Amino acid sequence: MSHSALPDHAEDVSRPRVLVTGAGGFIGHHLVNHLVTLGYRVRGVDLDRPAWERTRADEFLRLDLRRASDCASAVRGIEEVYHLAANMGGMGFIEFNKAEIAHDNVLIDANMLEASRREGVRRFFYSSSACVYPPFRLQSPDAPPPREEDAYPADPVDGYGWEKLYMERLCRHYREDFGLETRVARFHSMYGPLGTYDGGREKAPAAICRKVALAKDGGTIDIWGDGEQTRTYCYIDDCVEGIHRLMRSEHHEPINLGSDELITINDLALLTARVAGKRVQLRHVPGPQGVRGRGSDNTRMRDVLRWEPRVSLEEGMRRTYGWIARMARSARRSAAISGSTRAPSA
Ligand code: NAD
Repeated sequence: MSHSALPDHAEDVSRPRVLVTGAGGFIGHHLVNHLVTLGYRVRGVDLDRPAWERTRADEFLRLDLRRASDCASAVRGIEEVYHLAANMGGMGFIEFNKAEIAHDNVLIDANMLEASRREGVRRFFYSSSACVYPPFRLQSPDAPPPREEDAYPADPVDGYGWEKLYMERLCRHYREDFGLETRVARFHSMYGPLGTYDGGREKAPAAICRKVALAKDGGTIDIWGDGEQTRTYCYIDDCVEGIHRLMRSEHHEPINLGSDELITINDLALLTARVAGKRVQLRHVPGPQGVRGRGSDNTRMRDVLRWEPRVSLEEGMRRTYGWIARMARSARRSAAISGSTRAPSA
């Protein structure tokens, strides 16, 4: 059955019934929109509903996937699972909350796999991370972008990365031992509108957009470290398209999903200022920086999916900045009206 050829918004029960976990979160919410547009019947599950927009999922269940019984409810009657729920955040969050992250995600991931097996789910997508790559390979800003096989010998980012790498293996064991068709993407820093932009869990592109939006023209924004660390950032529309393409493919080994447009944090800040039409000074302050340099090697993605991300960083940041600037300014206005003194996060 070719799911990608399904008509938009068909109401018949022949539409495949899929589950998106983490559907209240950034990628999960966008993925729900994508799958609904493609004609799937979508159940969304999360601790909370999406913060900024109504879900388009056919049904939305608020469940705690750390509990096996909630995972069983989540997968009931489901044919395919897109599993994105996780306790996670940007560099500052994953650096200082290793026990909580590892504990919650081990429970969520193992319980979701087991519930899917018991329910007879046919395909299971797992959202892994570039944090599975060993920091020892990524010690300079121009380190070669890791290929999929470079995850071994294993030495992932502590806490969050170890849990992701182990879960990749658990997916493989469930495929080999029980025939559950698992698909695994290693995400490389996704960004876009409708994602967390303050509070401590935000990632670099969102934090930079917020800082630039709240800075005066000619003002100063803080950058963690010297800002010479490099990353690639993948726009959310490309991310959800890549997820769906991988799910429909027959490739079951982990695969990089990211853009290959490498940029330093300093240049990302200057690009954002240009998009915003502002001049800003960068002030370098102490803070967690993660690995020194990490790109996405997309060779396998091109081979397997016959596709790669299309949205340029400049265009993606333009769309992201527009949304975050509106949200951050309106939050500041509301705080001023209510007399709140809450400081913005780093
Ligand atoms: P997000 O934090 O926006 O979304 C995750 C969602 O999971 C949240 O809405 C959260 O409420 C939900 N969740 C957490 N604990 C839960 C629980 N016990 N029960 C039910 N739901 C729970 O994160 P995101 O950016 O959308 O990331 C989605 C997935 O992709 C995660 O697995 C993450 O590790 C992975 N990932 C994301 C990136 C990225 O750049 N955003 C990079 C690498 C990997």
